[in-house]
Amino acid sequence: PRTRQQNVTAAQWAANGALGPTDLTENIDYYGENVFSPAIQKDRLSKDTYRKLQIAVAKGEGLDLGLANEVANAMKEWALEKGATHYTHWFQPLTGLTAEKHDSFFDPQGDGTAITEFKGKELIQGEPDASSFPTGGIRATFEARGYTAWDPTSPAFILENPNGALLCIPTAFVSWTGEALDQKIPLMRSMEALSNSAVRACELLGVEANHVFTTVGPEQEYFLIDEQYYFERADLVNTGRTLFGAKPPKGHELDDHYFGSIPERILAFMMDAERELQRLGIPIKTRHNEVAPNQYELAPIFENSNVASDHQQLTMQILQNKARDYGLVCLLHEKPFAGVNGSGKHNNWSMGTDKGVNLLDPGDTPQENLTFLFFCAAVIQAVNRHQALLRASVANAGQDHRLGANEAPPAIISIFLGSELTKAFEAIESGSGDGGTVKETLELGTPLLPVLPKHGGDRNRTSPFAFTGNKFEFRALGSSMSLSLPNTVLNTIAAEAMDDLTAQLRPLVDSGKPLMEAVLEVVKDVYAANKQIVFDGDGYSEEWHQEAEARGLLNLPATPAALPWLTNEQTVAAFAKYNVLSERELEAREEVLTEQYVVKLNIEAETAASIARTQILPAVVRHLAELRAAGSETLIGETEELLRELVFAIQKLESVNEIHEDDTIKQEARYMLETVIPAMDAVREVADKLERIVADDLWPLPKYWEMLFIK
Ligand code: ADP
Ligand code: MG
Repeated sequence: PRTRQQNVTAAQWAANGALGPTDLTENIDYYGENVFSPAIQKDRLSKDTYRKLQIAVAKGEGLDLGLANEVANAMKEWALEKGATHYTHWFQPLTGLTAEKHDSFFDPQGDGTAITEFKGKELIQGEPDASSFPTGGIRATFEARGYTAWDPTSPAFILENPNGALLCIPTAFVSWTGEALDQKIPLMRSMEALSNSAVRACELLGVEANHVFTTVGPEQEYFLIDEQYYFERADLVNTGRTLFGAKPPKGHELDDHYFGSIPERILAFMMDAERELQRLGIPIKTRHNEVAPNQYELAPIFENSNVASDHQQLTMQILQNKARDYGLVCLLHEKPFAGVNGSGKHNNWSMGTDKGVNLLDPGDTPQENLTFLFFCAAVIQAVNRHQALLRASVANAGQDHRLGANEAPPAIISIFLGSELTKAFEAIESGSGDGGTVKETLELGTPLLPVLPKHGGDRNRTSPFAFTGNKFEFRALGSSMSLSLPNTVLNTIAAEAMDDLTAQLRPLVDSGKPLMEAVLEVVKDVYAANKQIVFDGDGYSEEWHQEAEARGLLNLPATPAALPWLTNEQTVAAFAKYNVLSERELEAREEVLTEQYVVKLNIEAETAASIARTQILPAVVRHLAELRAAGSETLIGETEELLRELVFAIQKLESVNEIHEDDTIKQEARYMLETVIPAMDAVREVADKLERIVADDLWPLPKYWEMLFIK
């Protein structure tokens, strides 16, 4: 029988990984110490090279080889001092994970000695043997070459290991035909597209801007469990979630975990992981207990989308690595435990000019209010028009357990504006002064510019897309996800809507209409046409599901229904218009994501069948033997009945879980959804009943209460 883990104190683990207490009395001198930051660059490059590099970065241009050689050399010297022996082009293939292939700095001289070398061309471009990365059909294996290209806008960093260190150079991953094989390229293209559209709009609105950056601050939820339980469960190891487990006597009914005091061992882990992240220049700011037992959250200060996305990937990696030093495993799966809240990632998103103006901040003056209304209306139109695409951008097998259940935002995309802002838009729409028109605006001689809320007091937790004062919070991302695709979508559809609004505004302004009147006219029309997407009520409620349907909003609870929107006609048109992804590149993404869905479910089904047959079934049989020995007829009958059901359900699952070679990947996905998942659920249902009656010392799997309450 299994032995149970003891509760472990932080002190017992401290020796493993802790760095010792931090002294912040002077300044945070470890912040960013593992980053080849602009400050370090300035220090180590000649004045001229530094300036040229900054210009190239600002303009998004490539570097000439001479310059690259100088940068590479400085980077190498710095990395060697940090203990690095190898470098890697760090990239983000379509798996949603990061990829790295290490090359050493050593260059043998042929006389038995070696020197260290790192040339500009090795910095700029790499050629990993990339034939095993999913490409969604973009590249046949016979032309399997892809290359990685340095992204100088996301700083290089050092990953430490007790036995050395690694210089990581953020890179894009492209095929030789120039097609994006990764997540970074489309994100960067979408940022560029949004900037161009926003700058055009700003010109018309009289807002000074040469460039507009999109910004993201992601809030990351995760679970921590004792590693002993993790290794005792094939489902956690193979799939990241528990495929079995009866509901524990105590869940989060008591609300005693959320924002509660953080258990000692967990806090020790957090402090250590956060320091590691801060050394990597990742501005981690907040931490707290989340709603579910053993669930936690951390969030950084927002950064530009590209860097934020790289940093988010690193954050997930460091959380997982560091947890092990404390005898913990960090679960990033969207739904590790049935019946217990799952984990998401809130994507706080905004856009700001190079002059430091947040375009989604209502501001203090009528001019700022007007600018805000324009951009806010553009977002409303974008989200309404591409609601299904947004849903598709956050689709994966894990997400299907959350979206649509009463815990995460629903699978129906809607926007929460808050009552004051909604009132303001409605006042504009109706042309009435109701809803907060103030004297000041009337005094300016302008019609109907309502007062806008300074800080939208949003506490609506059920909305998938909420305005929160000076940014929108897209709350439907899954905890394991890269930020790239959802933000690529957001930026692209926002760019499209801005251009649309600008095109409506320009003739009005040209015809001599005062700017305020002209903007309000456009905002009025846009709001009227798109307000079906605005909803301030309870997104979990049954009434909302009915009302949303009546409004014509889409409800896509399952991944196979959502993913085809990636290649829908209006998606293809928008993405082509802004050169973010071609139709072929979009098809590749749909294909890879669909395939991942199928493969993940196939692994889940196999794991479930195997655990049920080789661990649970034998335990039940032994339990039954003991009952028979004791001669308890009622108990024997009850157990025999469940055993029969279990055997039947296992056989069914084993027989349906097969890949049909002739089917398309979309057909396979449907089959998983309609046939394999129900078969898995059926096994689980009876197994969870058995967990409640089989002798505890015979039960082979750690139970929910152990995993969730031992801290
Ligand atoms: P909440 O009410 O959701 O806790 P916070 O103010 O704590 O909101 O912010 C949550 C996240 O939003 C943080 O990561 C923060 O940096 C980010 N954030 C704040 N302003 C912006 C912005 N302009 N653009 C993007 N993210 C932002
Ligand atoms: Mg938030």
